[in-house]
Amino acid sequence: LMQIYRPLNFIGFVYREIRQGLTDIEEMFKLLDRAPEIQDKPGAKPLSVTGPVVKFDDVKFHYDADRPILKGISFEVPAGKTIAVVGPSGAGKSTISRLLYRFYDVIEGKITIDGQDLRDVTQESLRAAIGMVPQDTVLFNDTIAYNIRYGRPGATDEEVRKAAELAQIGHFIESLPKGYDTPVGERGLKLSGGEKQRVAIARTILKGPPILILDEATSALDSKTEEDIKSALDVVSANRTTLVIAHRLSTVVNADEIIVLRDGQIAERGTHHRLLVKQGLYAQMWNRQREASEAEERMQRVANDP
Ligand code: ATP
Repeated sequence: LMQIYRPLNFIGFVYREIRQGLTDIEEMFKLLDRAPEIQDKPGAKPLSVTGPVVKFDDVKFHYDADRPILKGISFEVPAGKTIAVVGPSGAGKSTISRLLYRFYDVIEGKITIDGQDLRDVTQESLRAAIGMVPQDTVLFNDTIAYNIRYGRPGATDEEVRKAAELAQIGHFIESLPKGYDTPVGERGLKLSGGEKQRVAIARTILKGPPILILDEATSALDSKTEEDIKSALDVVSANRTTLVIAHRLSTVVNADEIIVLRDGQIAERGTHHRLLVKQGLYAQMWNRQREASEAEERMQRVANDP
């Protein structure tokens, strides 16, 4: 029976591999389908970064015409400051980061960097000026050193190590038997969401862009990982014009301004303390989250000490 079973099992394996390959190809075509929508204008100039000051001016956006996502958003990120965008799930927070990176163009209004409309500059120069730490970083099937060095291919081993340390992931990498030569990605060591995000932060520290977009991971992280990520983000965002898309509120306390998005509009704005005093939507979200994390800590204590 085993003689029949083994080849059948193997065929099953090959079939699954091919299926997976097909879905990847489908994904690729979906991406290719999208790409031509955004093109450089004839005569587009390279972005000239001075501040940099990022400005959203009455921005309206939808993916599908019958469902508006952003209904007229205005805010400014002053040079070197940090603005955090918070709000309920689906409010349009990540959409704001996608528009700043120009994955899509605004429908109405405009986004400028140092007064230049994103649609008037070359995409290459725009993306060179922005470091994006996405929610879910895709790692290459290569070593962890390669994945960090991707931020600046000419970086030395020492610079890669330094970036990893600043991103609070150096210690973890050094504890692996093969250290920086450990293969990661789908075919190597699978990193947790928090570890992947710190690899992305190390990559961005090496790239050293003047503007930063941090799209915080949605998933809940344990409090140690949360702290590590917070310190890594503090390092990378110091003196950079930073837009934080916060799904968990943990990184927003020190932001220069917090923008609370609801239903595609700005419902409230201000510092953490002012918004708490206001007792509005932000205060509600903050209290709910605190209760949830306290409950989780209680569960942890019970689990550790039965
Ligand atoms: P979360 O905190 O859950 O990540 P969010 O505030 O970041 O939410 P967005 O990702 O900006 O929300 O999405 C806003 C809305 O736009 C959602 O209702 C989502 O379903 C929709 N949306 C996002 N991407 C697309 C897309 N490519 N095509 C169509 N609709 C989309």
